[in-house]
Amino acid sequence: MEKTNGRIEPSAGRENLVTLRGIQKYYPVSGVAGKRGLVKAVDGIDLDIRRGETLGLVGESGCGKSTLGRAILRLEEPTAGEIRYDGRDILALSRKELRPLRQRMQIIFQDPYSSLNPRMTVGRIIAEALVIHGVGSAADRLERVREIMKVVGLRPEAINRYPHEFSGGQRQRIGIGRALALQPELIICDEPVSALDVSIQAQVINLLMDLQEQFHLTYLFVSHDLSVVRHISDRVAVMYLGRLVELQPKADLYEHPLHPYTQALLAAAPVPDVNTVREKKGLAGDPPSPLSPPEGCHFHPRCPHVMDRCRKEVPAFREHLPGRWVRCFLYEDGGTVGQ
Ligand code: SF4
Repeated sequence: MEKTNGRIEPSAGRENLVTLRGIQKYYPVSGVAGKRGLVKAVDGIDLDIRRGETLGLVGESGCGKSTLGRAILRLEEPTAGEIRYDGRDILALSRKELRPLRQRMQIIFQDPYSSLNPRMTVGRIIAEALVIHGVGSAADRLERVREIMKVVGLRPEAINRYPHEFSGGQRQRIGIGRALALQPELIICDEPVSALDVSIQAQVINLLMDLQEQFHLTYLFVSHDLSVVRHISDRVAVMYLGRLVELQPKADLYEHPLHPYTQALLAAAPVPDVNTVREKKGLAGDPPSPLSPPEGCHFHPRCPHVMDRCRKEVPAFREHLPGRWVRCFLYEDGGTVGQ
C-alpha cells in the first residue's frame, strides 16, 4: 500500500481492472451559419480503475464524465485511445467478441423513470439480460430474479408489478437489480442518485456500498455532486471540459484539494462538519461552451490564480505527490495553493 500525506491509501496496490489511455470522444456538430465544429466531450483521458475500489468521477454538467463512463462499456465508441479491461484491449474486439466481457460490466442509469421500460414487469426487466445472454432455464431465471429482488430490498411478491407502481427509490433499486443480474465485476454508476430525494439518496448509496462488499464489485461512480461521492469513493477524479484536472485519494481531495477548480467546487458545496472553516471562494461564471473551449488551460477564465502562460499553454496532468495528480502550472515546481 502507498502512503499519501501520511495516510495509507486504501486501494493502492490493487491491480487495475480498467486502464484508459488517451481516450477521446469527439462529436461533429453544425455551428453558427452552418459552420462545422467538433465538440471534444472527452479529450485525452488517462485513468485506471482498480479492482474492488469505488472511483468517484465528478464535474459540472457537460464536462464529459458520463460520456467517459459510457465509452468504457462501448455504449459510445471512443474517437481514439485505448481501453484495457482485465488486460484485454476491448476496442480491438468485435461486437461478438465483446459480448462475454460485457456480461462483466454493467451500468446503472441516472433516471429511474425513463430507464425502465414501463410496459415490462419488474421480473422481466431484471431477467432481460439473463434471457439475452442465454443464462439458465426459465425456472432458474425466475429464482435468480427473486433472489436479486431480495438483495436490493424489494419484495419478491412484487415481481409482476410495473415500474409506475414503485417510488423513485424503489425504481432505482430495480435498476440496480437489473445491473446485478449477470453477476458483473464492474458497474458504471451514472449519476444514480441525482434524480432522487436527498433522504432516499443515502439509502441507495448505502445499498450500493453493501452490494460492493457482498459481491466484490468495482464502481465508477459518476456525479456532479462532490458531497454525494464523498461517502462512497476510495479515490476521486475531477473533470473539467473533457479533461481530468485532479485525481486524489478521497481524504486528500476533501482536506487538501489541489486544483483551483476543485477548491472552488468544494467552497461552493455545503460543509457537513461544523468545525470545518472553509474560505468562501465560490466558482465564478458558467463553464465555457464545449464547442469553443478556452485555449491553454480550459479553466483560465474562471481561475483566481490565472497567469499569462495559462492562456496559451495546456498544463500536463502530473503526479504532484504519490497518488495525488493535478493539471495546473502552480504545482510544476512542487508548489502549493490554498491547501
Ligand atoms: Fe489556474 Fe493556470 Fe492552474 Fe489553470 S493552470 S488552474 S488557469 S493557475
